[in-house]
Amino acid sequence: MGFNYIREVSTPQEILAAMPLSPDLAVIKKKRDQEIMAVFTRASKKFLLIIGPCSAHDEDAVCDYIGRLARVQAEVQDKIIIIPRIYTNKPRTNGMGYKGMVHQPDPQKEPNIVEGIQAIRRMHIRALRESNLPAADEMLYPGNYPYLEDVLSYVAVGARSVENQAHRLTCSGLEVPVGMKNPTSGELEVTLNSIQASQASHVFNYNGWEVKTTGNPLTHAVLRGAVDHSKLAVPNYHFEDLNLFARAYQKRELLNPTIIVDTNHANSNKKFAEQPRIAKEVLHSRRHSTLLKDMVRGLMIESFIEEGSQPPTGTVYGKSITDPCLGWKDSEKLIRDLAGML
Ligand code: PEP
Ligand code: MN
Repeated sequence: MGFNYIREVSTPQEILAAMPLSPDLAVIKKKRDQEIMAVFTRASKKFLLIIGPCSAHDEDAVCDYIGRLARVQAEVQDKIIIIPRIYTNKPRTNGMGYKGMVHQPDPQKEPNIVEGIQAIRRMHIRALRESNLPAADEMLYPGNYPYLEDVLSYVAVGARSVENQAHRLTCSGLEVPVGMKNPTSGELEVTLNSIQASQASHVFNYNGWEVKTTGNPLTHAVLRGAVDHSKLAVPNYHFEDLNLFARAYQKRELLNPTIIVDTNHANSNKKFAEQPRIAKEVLHSRRHSTLLKDMVRGLMIESFIEEGSQPPTGTVYGKSITDPCLGWKDSEKLIRDLAGML
């Protein structure tokens, strides 16, 4: 038989009981959720920055990095809401390679999902305790969401998952904003279909239950650029791209139509150092269009302590083992520059 049953995995109820979120952190998280939601409902004019490493592979380095973000957040709080990226699972283009902390709590060792689930919850709670900034994570496995549902303030659905029915239906039950990436093909209508599906109510089979969701009015778009048939990166952050997409978005009459621009991936062609230029161009474009000013409400930036990336076997502290990231000095300057432009 093709499945070798290795270890039984604890249920979300068991994990949450064994590793609870303290009541004071639950209050901080709830308050932050409201501040973030207000950006989507237009009750707040603040700008969102979803920023952090491509993948979180080392708890100490991630908490160190997010502590730095918290200090800058205090300086720019009138203009910007920072949501740290703590991405604990990674999609793979061809299926091979590091799949994230939830699979491999120690990237130098064999996969261990039972330990991985505990490791990601431990890291998210510690980062929240030390920074008071609830984080974003990517939904790779919809069934895993309940292991983190009380700690996350933002969820992204990646370019390779956005057409998946299970992701769309699960996101329709989340009570936090969900960013639907455009697929790698760049098909913008796919992104809008995904938002529409997630904003509607559904009945489906979820974690052993027949469930009915409310629909998530905070589901929105994240533009990350595309890859064409010759494998060339095709950015979608320029003024004309944003305008085209914003008009198509308007036609769908979806709730809280909001665009976040991802400055790395196919928008930078993973040239991480281009991110400050791209981020500033997006803010500049907002000044030239009332439609874009209303719809473009945030940026997603890949940033860590050390710039660039290293192989998954690398041991440089605070350096990405997946996509290359902007280093801390440039990131800190970028956040301050963006606050100055807003
Ligand atoms: C990411 O945000 O690191 C990521 C994997 O994005 P995408 O799904 O857009 O490739
Ligand atoms: Mn990435």
